[in-house]
Amino acid sequence: MKEFDIIIIGGGVSGSSTALNLSKKGYSVLVIEKEKVQNIKPCAGGMASSMKQFLPLDIETVIESKIRNVEFTWKASDKVIADLSGESPFWIINRDKLDLLLLDKALKYGTEILRPATVEKIIKESNKWIIHCSNKYKYKSEFLVIADGSQSKWAGHFNLGPRRPRFANTIALRLKGMGNIPKDSVRFEFGFVKYGFAWAFPLKENVNIGLGTFINNSLLEDEEKNNKIIKSFGFEDLSFKKITKKLRIWNGFHKLNGDKVLAVGDAASLCDPFLAEGIRPALISSFYAAESIDQCLSRQTDNLNYYSKNINNEWSKSMAWGRRIAQVFYRFPKTGYQLGVKRKTAPKRIAQILSGEMSYEDIAKRVIKRLLTKSEN
Ligand SMILES: Cc1cc2nc3c(=O)[nH]c(=O)nc-3n(C[C@H](O)[C@H](O)[C@H](O)COP(=O)(O)OP(=O)(O)OC[C@H]3O[C@@H](n4cnc5c(N)ncnc54)[C@H](O)[C@@H]3O)c2cc1C
Repeated sequence: MKEFDIIIIGGGVSGSSTALNLSKKGYSVLVIEKEKVQNIKPCAGGMASSMKQFLPLDIETVIESKIRNVEFTWKASDKVIADLSGESPFWIINRDKLDLLLLDKALKYGTEILRPATVEKIIKESNKWIIHCSNKYKYKSEFLVIADGSQSKWAGHFNLGPRRPRFANTIALRLKGMGNIPKDSVRFEFGFVKYGFAWAFPLKENVNIGLGTFINNSLLEDEEKNNKIIKSFGFEDLSFKKITKKLRIWNGFHKLNGDKVLAVGDAASLCDPFLAEGIRPALISSFYAAESIDQCLSRQTDNLNYYSKNINNEWSKSMAWGRRIAQVFYRFPKTGYQLGVKRKTAPKRIAQILSGEMSYEDIAKRVIKRLLTKSEN
């Protein structure tokens, strides 16, 4: 039976970047991916450039747009434009290409990949993982990383993350041409989708459009309304192929590691419950996953607890506020738009959130401080 230091289940952005981070450190890694070839990902590819610090390689070749403005609309009007100051703090990357780039680089560093294959059974024997795959082969490893995305089968099996995951319902489509979306702008439309919003992110020659609902498990079944939204982005030809996906979103502070096993990315329920940002937590979790496993393999520590602690500090504290904001904003979106988006300083703050400069926690603390000062006066 072939043995590896680490086996990773899932070869998306979190699995591939964990593989690259670990193989760069010299460890033997096997990625098990269920798809034969990479399908088009529904992800719109919006990403804060500040994430460079967590990227294990240069991704310039997969950046398709560098964003200077963020546009907000309410029912296709009442537009607010936020100028992203500084040097291109927000990028639109081609997600399919990013995952391939990460995986290719990991393979160059010695990672092996098994695809298409699914994991059927996992057992522990003499403190090592024995992974039984659909190709009837068995593989052995010291550590196991769960990176099988929003429909994760294995996170729950190992009690990693929330016992009852919460999901956003999404629809994604990629349309040829730019519609009325400027090349260097992204648009967020808040007035049409109940309990959520719609977005349009420009690639080189296409626009990624998405619709998402974030609370009350609200569905996106009103075809007429969906078409109206797409038309509002400047597209008349509605003969598009759409992908629907249930996206696992952040739902509380939870342990994300067990004994020699941890979960990263969507499998760990890290996706932002307000704006569906999942690439950033995928990269952050991959980075800390590799650090924690490295520390164990180099005998600096004997457990992976540092991993859960770091994710809670670096990401979940902010997401707790993101979830509160989502609960209020999506219940009272009109008021939310007037007070949250049309407020003089709001566009700047939202731009700072998107660029990774500020967290929801920072914003919430500012608001609380303002309220306290007002009530004291
Ligand atoms: C419509 C939409 C738009 C989005 N837009 C953005 C955006 O603009 N910016 C942003 O930051 N985030 C966005 N996100 C979120 C982002 O796409 C996810 O958070 C991100 O893809 C998580 O990466 P992952 O590697 O954890 O999961 P995935 O990318 O889902 O990868 C999981 C991988 O595991 C494989 N797999 C699954 N089960 C098994 C199994 N049993 N065995 C082996 N392999 C398995 C899958 O085939 C897949 O390759 C969006 C999401 C959606 C749905």
